[in-house]
Amino acid sequence: MPQNPKHYLDYMNQHAGQLIDLRHDIHRNPELGFEEFRTSDLVARCLQDWGYEVERGLAGTGVVGRLRRGVGTRQLGIRADMDALPIEEQTGLAYSSDRPGIMHACGHDGHTAMLLGAAKYLAESGEFSGVLNLIFQPAEESMGGAKRMIEQGLFEKYPCNAIFAMHNMPGIPQGRLVFREGATMASSDYVTVTLTGVGGHGAMPHLAADPVVAAASIVMALQTIVSRNTDPQEMAVVTVAALHVGKANNVIPHSAVMEISVRSLNREVRKLIEKRIKSIVTAQADSFDVKAQVDYREGYAVLVNTRDETEFARRIGRELLGDENVILEGEAMTASEDFAFMLEKRPGCYLMIGNGIGNGSSGCQVHNPAYDFNDYNVPVGAAYWAYLAESYLHSNAGDS
Ligand SMILES: [Zn+2]
Ligand SMILES: [Zn+2]
Repeated sequence: MPQNPKHYLDYMNQHAGQLIDLRHDIHRNPELGFEEFRTSDLVARCLQDWGYEVERGLAGTGVVGRLRRGVGTRQLGIRADMDALPIEEQTGLAYSSDRPGIMHACGHDGHTAMLLGAAKYLAESGEFSGVLNLIFQPAEESMGGAKRMIEQGLFEKYPCNAIFAMHNMPGIPQGRLVFREGATMASSDYVTVTLTGVGGHGAMPHLAADPVVAAASIVMALQTIVSRNTDPQEMAVVTVAALHVGKANNVIPHSAVMEISVRSLNREVRKLIEKRIKSIVTAQADSFDVKAQVDYREGYAVLVNTRDETEFARRIGRELLGDENVILEGEAMTASEDFAFMLEKRPGCYLMIGNGIGNGSSGCQVHNPAYDFNDYNVPVGAAYWAYLAESYLHSNAGDS
C-alpha cells in the first residue's frame, strides 16, 4: 500500500541536494534531439546502479528502465523528455550551458531529474506489486522522439496499462499542478500547395493559365473552412502564412507555392480540415485550368487525456499537495507535444507543474534564453511520481 503522501515529500526533500545537482549537471551539458548521448548515458547509469533492467537504443538515444516487483499484473509507464533547444543561454547562472548555441530552455533537464528522483526512491524502498516502466525519450522538440520509440516497439516490449508525463509551466505558481481531461494540446500540421499553370506575357493573359489568380482565389476560399465547415464550438486554425509567386509585372509566372499551418484540438476536426483543404484547392485550381498538388504532412497529434487516468492523477495531486495547490481543469493550449502519440496508444494523463511567476528565470516563458527550470520543483515532481507509482501499482494480483 502507498504510504502517507508526506512520506514521499520528506524523502525527496532529504535527497533534494543530490537531485538538484543532477539537474544542474544535465543543464550544463544540453544536447539536441536524437543527440542526447551524454544525457542518456547518465540516465542509464543511474538506473542500472539502482537495479533497473535497462534498455538503450529505442529511437537511438532513448532509455527505458524496468522494475518488477511482486506478483501484480499492472504495468505503469512514466515518461520524461531529455532534449534541449538550439538557443544561446542568457541566464548568467553558475550552471549555465557549456555548449554554445544549445540550452535547456524547456525544462527537460528538470523533467529528467524529477523522474530519476522517483526512480531512486522506488528502487530503494518502493512498495508495489507490478511493473514500473520509466521512459526517457529523446527529441520531444518537433522531431517526434515519442513517435519513433513507439514505431520501434516501445509498447510491445513494455506494455503499459496507463502512461503519465509532466511538463513545467511558467506563469503558474511554483509547484501548483494543472490537470485537464480530454483534448489538452493542439495538433500541428504543415501543408504545402504547389500550383502549376502556364506562364506567359502579362499583356496576353488569354494565352496563359495564371497561377497568381488561382492562388488568390484559393487563399480566400480556404477561409471558409473555419467559418463554414468546422463546428463553431471547436478550435481550428488554418493559416496561409507564405505565398511565393511571380517576379515581374509583365510576366505571368508558371507556378505558385503556398505554405499553410493547421491547428486543432479534435481528431475529427483535424481530418475534416485536411479533407476540405484538399478538395477546395483541387476544385479551385481546376476551375482556373491550373494543376494543384497538395502535400499534407501531419505533425504532432492532438493530446487527449483520458477520463479515469486524469481523475487518478488529480487525486494523487490533491492528496500530495492539498486542494489549494491543484487546478482541476486548466485551459486547453495551442502548443503541441509529442506525448500525444503515446496517448493515442495508451490511456493516460499529461499534467503541468507551475514553474513560478514574476520576472525571474522561472517565471520567464519556455524557449526563451532567460528561462530556467525551477529547482524547487525537482523534489515536488519526484514525490508526485513516486506516490503515483506506488498508488497505481498497489497490491493487486490479477487486477486489470
Ligand atoms: Zn519546448
Ligand atoms: Zn518541453
